[in-house]
Amino acid sequence: MRIDIITIHPELIASPFEHSILKRGISKGLAEVNFINLRDYSTNKHKSVDDYQFGGGAGMVMMIEPIAACIEHLKSQRKYDEIIYTSPDGELFNQKIANNLSTLKNIIILCGHYKGIDERVREKYITREISIGDYVLSGGELAAAIISDAIIRLIPGVISDETSALSDSFQDGLLAPPVYTRPADFNGQKVPDILLSGNFEKIEHWRAEKALERTRKRRPDLLK
Ligand code: SAH
Repeated sequence: MRIDIITIHPELIASPFEHSILKRGISKGLAEVNFINLRDYSTNKHKSVDDYQFGGGAGMVMMIEPIAACIEHLKSQRKYDEIIYTSPDGELFNQKIANNLSTLKNIIILCGHYKGIDERVREKYITREISIGDYVLSGGELAAAIISDAIIRLIPGVISDETSALSDSFQDGLLAPPVYTRPADFNGQKVPDILLSGNFEKIEHWRAEKALERTRKRRPDLLK
């Protein structure tokens, strides 16, 4: 899978991809992530990509020309399955969207800044708009990193134990059950006996029960 991230701050977004699971997925060649500097597509001598908004009001708006030039250039090289814009007014990101995006071949993620991007970009180029939550960030980079992380870890082979990604919260509509590791007894705080029993059928049953119990308590909305 290829993810092309259009950003005015490539250095801001690079780090999450240089560690841990994402790094492994990328170095195994299972995912390719490119950071495209939008300023490279500015024809302005100061490399600016924003301008005052029509109608007045505080805050700059990202201009259509550099974004159009950048997207057209990328589209001339390959076909994209989705061109995503990160935006607080987009559909709320969740596991189902991540699952869906992880099956695609080529996607673009456009990171906004300032007051956002000229509406005409959204009308002409954007195929999907995603919000990572009901709050406003200063830019789309962190949202793009979150979306990419959630997608890449689902690509088969990225996580060594593949069942691990499938048993995470939300995959089966439930939160994950509690997990423990050594020591079995930490100053009197004991790990549930069942997990030490070696009876895998009973352990699975216990985990399913705990997942349900936790979901009922913390996220009853998921059970509806
Ligand atoms: N004026 C806009 C917010 C702009 S914030 C509004 O009120 O809706 C600047 C940029 O940060 C946005 O263009 C978007 O790309 C990104 N951003 C901010 N909050 C976000 C969120 N919750 N999810 C995804 N992207 C977000």
